Amino acid sequence: MNDTFLENRASKPTKDELRNVFAEAYRLGLEAAPEGRVADYIPELAKADPGAFGIYMLDGNGESISFGDVSTRFSIQSVAKVIILAVALKYRGFDETFSHVMMEPSGDSFNSILKLDLRSNLPFNPMINAGAIQTVSLLADEFGFDDLMGFARELCMDPNIVLDEAVYNSEHDTGDRNRAIVYLLKSKGVLMADPEKTVDLYFKLCSLSVNARSLAALGLVISNGGVNPFTGRNWIEPDHVRTIKSLMFTCGMYDFSGQFGVKVGVPGKSGVGGGMVCAARGPMGIGLYGPSLDPYGNSIAAVKAMEHLSEKLNLHVFDYL
Ligand code: GLN
Repeated sequence: MNDTFLENRASKPTKDELRNVFAEAYRLGLEAAPEGRVADYIPELAKADPGAFGIYMLDGNGESISFGDVSTRFSIQSVAKVIILAVALKYRGFDETFSHVMMEPSGDSFNSILKLDLRSNLPFNPMINAGAIQTVSLLADEFGFDDLMGFARELCMDPNIVLDEAVYNSEHDTGDRNRAIVYLLKSKGVLMADPEKTVDLYFKLCSLSVNARSLAALGLVISNGGVNPFTGRNWIEPDHVRTIKSLMFTCGMYDFSGQFGVKVGVPGKSGVGGGMVCAARGPMGIGLYGPSLDPYGNSIAAVKAMEHLSEKLNLHVFDYL
């Protein structure tokens, strides 16, 4: 560990040193990509290039470092859950939001229905499908897709985010498990809006097209206490940021969250489109794109790259207590 940039090191890494660490993270990620598999349960996602990988770092001064495939657009998928939660906290508040969804890691896969049926009336947390769908139902009567896409554009500092129609149609045609979840929530009497309207909005939010830079910007806002450092706009209240980061840390990688927490230790959120957002200290946002996934549904290249970055840059949250 003596070649890490320790907190107590007199000087911060130079831009060149930082660049070299990111270059190596990119190389390791690229090397790991063939070990994973592109998601195919949403047929449109199967068209992604399994070898693709990109990494984009954006800091609070507007400095960036990027390698690889950072301009390709892909569907945000479960990274949208972070935005959905941020909107719910902003417009419904903490108490109301968490009277409709819990804040416990589920230990199950992202689309599991088991514990929701057997153990609880409320979904375990907003970072799994059931919890995100439930959270969307809190918003669906007040906000339409265009409003929510507007929030995503703002949080990701990306006016070019649009609906990826092909992915949306593919999800819509094959999303029966998510329909099962929404109707189960309805049958339990906890869903807060019409089930078809809710699940359709959820499909659309998963189909927002982003790139690695959009996710880096989202990570930067979260890492910067909810403030966009370039406009000064405080989009997310500081105590809501704390909640979002906590849930990203404990639940953001589904049933791999514990391992990611130990090995990487940075609040992050992945999606089956291959995207990952990480909110690292600095402030620093890291956006990654690698559509080859591990068995849990996380980008295998992104996980590998983040392990390297965390070790070399001392990013683990418990390294700087
Ligand atoms: N749209 C996907 C689904 O609902 C999102 C899942 C994910 O990214 N893990 O299955």
